Amino acid sequence: MNPSISTGSCFSGTYAEARQKFVEAGMACGARARQFILPDHRGVFGEPLSIDTAYIGPDQPRRLLIVSSGTHGVEGFCGSGCQVAVLHDTGLKDRLAQAGVGLLLIHAINPYGFSHLQRTNEDNIDVNRNFVDFDAPLPPSPHYLEVESFVLPPQWPPSGQDIERQQAFVRQHGERGLRHAVSSGQRVSPQGLFYGGTAPSWSNRTVRAILREHGAAAQAIAWIDIHTGLGPYGHGEKLYAGRNDARDIARARACWGSDVFLTFSGNTDSVSVDVTGLVCSSLHDECVQAEALLVGLEFGTLPFSAVQSALYHAAWIRAHGGKVDAATRAAAARVLRDAFYCDNDVWKGMILGQARVACLQVAQSLARFDTEHAAQP
Ligand SMILES: [Zn+2]
Repeated sequence: MNPSISTGSCFSGTYAEARQKFVEAGMACGARARQFILPDHRGVFGEPLSIDTAYIGPDQPRRLLIVSSGTHGVEGFCGSGCQVAVLHDTGLKDRLAQAGVGLLLIHAINPYGFSHLQRTNEDNIDVNRNFVDFDAPLPPSPHYLEVESFVLPPQWPPSGQDIERQQAFVRQHGERGLRHAVSSGQRVSPQGLFYGGTAPSWSNRTVRAILREHGAAAQAIAWIDIHTGLGPYGHGEKLYAGRNDARDIARARACWGSDVFLTFSGNTDSVSVDVTGLVCSSLHDECVQAEALLVGLEFGTLPFSAVQSALYHAAWIRAHGGKVDAATRAAAARVLRDAFYCDNDVWKGMILGQARVACLQVAQSLARFDTEHAAQP
């Protein structure tokens, strides 16, 4: 990274500040910029909301690295900081250029959630559960409503009876079964947790347009979607985000290492449960010609129980908290922000180091792409 840029200065305290830093860093290095404004909504301070892109590289690249932030709104504080650091990182940009890799940064895929300090978008949709085929039958969520009745009960906090019902569910289905029922993505409760929506969101449609613009000629595309909130403090777990296909999995592990974890059903090694509708899956629809290397980089923050209780309280306020006063709402949003973003230089340094390595691995991996591709029978 440019030594004149400190670790902390890449990160921001609000969406508006983050967007400004991203746009200015892109301008300073001559990146090609685009802004896609979210219609009919404003940020928490009345500011316009947008997805912004910065592109560095040849027109219609054959090899492309995408780094995206803010798919889960409030998690964008982390990913935005990584993107600003990349834009200031002359050494990294040179390595990508030498490898013939175009660099596309997609800032704040869910700008509403980023600004309003929530994980979901303007319609309470979890954008990373929204990329499913809406022409096909939607994935079922058989246990969600039962679980919602005791994790988001009418009164807060949950009663002793609610907790007993949760414990009974865990005895029957296990802790992982409970987490799967809550967080794998549901289509039955629009005010509930991890709601995937019943139609493509604005973020979904916009990301697809961006992919068509930049990825049309690419033969290989690596995509790092940055998240926070699961796993050990400051550790970036690589969550495989592609299809359940042996060649695709091998390609991702050849790039990022054997610690690319699978979240498919039955795999219990990962910090995440199996989910449907990931943003990265859109690459298979929009850039069908490209070999895909897809990973979510999930940085740990607070212990799981603290993240979960912050998330549940914020969701309860949205679902049942009609009489909750503004100060309590603001405090809950702040607790949620702190659960997904550790505002100190040690954590930020850990994040930037690992994000940089993940980008360098793409430069190395895609530099070899042509020879390996030509060797395929
Ligand atoms: Zn996330």
